[in-house]
Amino acid sequence: MCDVREEYVDIMRNDPEVRGKSLNQLFPQHFMDRLPYHKIKVGCCILDGRPMSRDEMEPDDKTPRAICPECYAKWTSQVTEICPICGESLPYDRVEVQQDEPYEVALRIHDGKCLDYFSICSCKALGDDMSFIADETGHQPQEQLTDRKSEFPSQIDKIVPSDHMPVQPKRVKVKR
Ligand SMILES: [Zn+2]
Ligand SMILES: [Zn+2]
Repeated sequence: MCDVREEYVDIMRNDPEVRGKSLNQLFPQHFMDRLPYHKIKVGCCILDGRPMSRDEMEPDDKTPRAICPECYAKWTSQVTEICPICGESLPYDRVEVQQDEPYEVALRIHDGKCLDYFSICSCKALGDDMSFIADETGHQPQEQLTDRKSEFPSQIDKIVPSDHMPVQPKRVKVKR
């Protein structure tokens, strides 16, 4: 996985074209509709909202990540033909190399604004200072953030088509 912090967000942070702008000046509204920035919580997976441990987010020998191991495995277990950020097709040469580098999520998202937005969302979850963005609400109506996980839209369903989802969700609950 590429280092979204160093490779993208640190560059945007210092870019006068980006600093002080609001999310909807920087990105098209449908990015925020697909992956709502304002619903991303620090310390939680950007795709399903699951709380992540420090080790999961900042593994010692790897780049930081804001996607939990479960979502990451699900996403990287198959070829991604549609960019999860904008919903448009990925170029064929990108899709083709995914098999060689399945864990490189940068191959599964368009370059440019799509990767920038993904990186911004990731760094918010990682707890970075995102104050270089003027208005982080992303043009959403004033909505109360709740801690109820059920209200978090599960973005993984948009990224991994439902016909590829396992029939039985792997959520083992111990019954007493
Ligand atoms: Zn997740
Ligand atoms: Zn895209």
